[in-house]
Amino acid sequence: MSTSPPPRRKPEARLDIARPAPRKRATRAAPTKKAGAALMADSIEPPAAVADAALEAPADAPITEPPAAPRRRVSGIDQRIYEAVLNAVMTHRLPPGTKLTEASFCDLYKVSRTIVRKALLRLAHDHIVELRPNRGAVIASPTPQEKRDVFHARRIVESAVVPLAIRNATRAQIAKLRQMVRDERAALDRGDRGRWIRLGADFHLALAEVAGNQVLTHFLSELSSRCSLIIALYDSPTSVPCAHDEHEHLIDAIATGDVERATTMMEAHLRAIESRLMPERRSESIDLAQILGND
Ligand SMILES: [Zn+2]
Repeated sequence: MSTSPPPRRKPEARLDIARPAPRKRATRAAPTKKAGAALMADSIEPPAAVADAALEAPADAPITEPPAAPRRRVSGIDQRIYEAVLNAVMTHRLPPGTKLTEASFCDLYKVSRTIVRKALLRLAHDHIVELRPNRGAVIASPTPQEKRDVFHARRIVESAVVPLAIRNATRAQIAKLRQMVRDERAALDRGDRGRWIRLGADFHLALAEVAGNQVLTHFLSELSSRCSLIIALYDSPTSVPCAHDEHEHLIDAIATGDVERATTMMEAHLRAIESRLMPERRSESIDLAQILGND
C-alpha cells in the first residue's frame, strides 16, 4: 500500500462534485438505458425520482447542505447512486430507517445489482446506510450517543482546521469563502432550502481544503456526511442547521488572523448546531417506494 498522499484536488473540483447538477425538468421521465449510461457524465443528473429526492428540498443537510457531497470524484454510476442517496438524506427526502431496495436502483439506473451493491457498500462504509442480514439496506439511524460523538469529533477536527486555514489562506480563498456565504444567503432568500443546506456543509469542507491537511479533510468529509444524517434525524425540516451569518463572522475572524477568536467561534458554531437538534430521534420512517411512486 502506497504511503504517498493522494494528489491534492482543487477545491473547485471537489465542490462541483459535492453539489448536484443544475435541475433540469426535461429529464423527469424515467431514464432509458441510454440515459442510464449517460449518468457517468458529469453533466447528466440522476434519474428523476432520485434526483427529486436529492434536489427538491422539503422546505433544506444538513443534507445541512451536504455534503455537500462533492468530496470524491465521480467515477461511475455507483458514484452517482452514492451522491443521489446522500443528497436525498441531506434534504430529508430519505429519512433514517428508509429501506433501499437493490431492485429499485437497478430499475432506475438500468444497472446490475453488482453496481448497486458497490454504491451501498460505500454508503455503509461512510455510515449513511446500514446493511442488515436478510433485511437489505436501510438509511442509518444514529443513536443519541453517536450524535454526541460525531459532534465532539467535529469540534476537534474543525478546531484544528481553523489555525491551519488562517496560516494558509490566500486573499482569493477568503474571497471565495465570502462568495459561498453570499450564495448561502441567496439560496435561503429564494426559498431553496436544499441548496442552502448543501452550501452550508460545503463551506466547512472548503475551509478544510484551505487548511491544506488532506487527512483532516478526509475526516471532516466523513463527519459531514454523518452530521447530515444526524441532522435529518434529530432536526425538523424547518430549523436552521448552519447559520450563514455565523459563517460570515467566522471568515472575518479568520481574515484578521485571530486564531483564538476564530477557533472559539468555530466551536461555538458547532455547539449551536448541536444545541438546535432535538435530544431524541424522530420516529419518521417511510418506504423508498413511496418516494419513487410519486413520479
Ligand atoms: Zn456551518
